[in-house]
Amino acid sequence: MMGAIAPVSYRRSHPDNKFPALLLPHADECARLFLIVYTTMWELVTMSSEIHCDSLWYGADLVTMRDGKYHILHDGAIAVRDGNIVWIGQRAALPAISATKTVEFDGGIITPGLVDCHTHLVFGGDRSAEFEQRLNGVSYAEIAAQGGGIVSTVKATRDTDEQQLLQQALFRLKPLLAEGVTCVEIKSGYGLTPQSELKMLRVARRLGELLPVEVKTTCLAAHALPPEYAGRADDYIDLVCDTIIPEAAAAGLADAVDAFCEHLAFSPQQVEKVFAAAERAGLPVKLHAEQLSALGGSALAARHHALSADHLEYATEQDAQAMAAAGTVAVLLPGAYYLLRETQCPPIALFRKHQVAMAIASDANPGTSPALSLRLMINMACTLFRLTPEEALAGVTLNAARALGLQHSHGSLESGKVADFVHWPLSRPAELAYWLGGQLPCTVIFRGEVRQ
Ligand SMILES: [Zn+2]
Repeated sequence: MMGAIAPVSYRRSHPDNKFPALLLPHADECARLFLIVYTTMWELVTMSSEIHCDSLWYGADLVTMRDGKYHILHDGAIAVRDGNIVWIGQRAALPAISATKTVEFDGGIITPGLVDCHTHLVFGGDRSAEFEQRLNGVSYAEIAAQGGGIVSTVKATRDTDEQQLLQQALFRLKPLLAEGVTCVEIKSGYGLTPQSELKMLRVARRLGELLPVEVKTTCLAAHALPPEYAGRADDYIDLVCDTIIPEAAAAGLADAVDAFCEHLAFSPQQVEKVFAAAERAGLPVKLHAEQLSALGGSALAARHHALSADHLEYATEQDAQAMAAAGTVAVLLPGAYYLLRETQCPPIALFRKHQVAMAIASDANPGTSPALSLRLMINMACTLFRLTPEEALAGVTLNAARALGLQHSHGSLESGKVADFVHWPLSRPAELAYWLGGQLPCTVIFRGEVRQ
């Protein structure tokens, strides 16, 4: 039963093991000899002693998504301790192991927990009336004249108290969780005042406390120009840079900073200022870029080593090269593309050519993507953008984790990562992209515990 790979995997993740500290680049021969002896002794010790874990899961094929590929382990096993994966491999290679709890599935596949890396889940009201008006022939201009569009969401968000915002966001978050999401990013951006932006971020943080899901928050105060700043965009950017970002950072409410670089939002020069403020606050940046026109936002994001540039329908080859060099993830948002009935696809071939990591997200928001299903976005990324099912699954696992700076702890099934995974009674991972709508049955494991 004791497979050769078991002690290696275990040794890497053992919390008491100080061994890696000895792997210094300038270790002399003496130290190297000691290293070999130490390694041999350690392997003897670990091979002769039993690994203990809190839970052991087997009876399914593991779609590990290591390196963003399926890397399927047929009839695999996962051992979990303290909420982390401590051993993973084929069941036949299981080392001597004792588990407090053992769970055996009757076939199916296990994927990493899904990561939705771009949402605007916290907002007041909704825009379904506007949606209906538009389909009854009312023009955008008339709707805007009635105070519709993003301005109506800003007003509703400002007028809604924290408790109500929380309840409304719970309504939208729960369907995402039910289909396997274990990590979600949530942006501010509908408050556009210091108080209401911080209110949105507090609600986002609270969601992560109330539900078994990892929440990463992003301050998107530079989302739109608030009506009271009409004609004074630079003054508003000063408020964002001098007050909102520093206050959000000081309160520990933001994990990143985002902005919307577009003709109808903010210019590249204004975004530069926002990024400088983020850097002063010690926060990584992201950018809504090239959704409706090519302004060079994604190259700007890459210059600032952004975690991601998002939308990207109008990104160029230069943008793709810059993003590849900086390790900036391309986050594709097929829900907004679909709802706006866009015709210009993001340049998938260029992202492939330059090996830009691609992620997929719901962009859940009241105006352009009221999407409550990440799995539907997987299908749309395949049908509308022609991603392969393997690329699409990488887009909601490892690459989505990378878009949040979490690639070392999330997004794939590997020893040392968090034990967030989903069991699906499916025969192959392509089914996740294939079934159109509906809710596939699944068992979600969050930090090693079945999520109810
Ligand atoms: Zn967005």
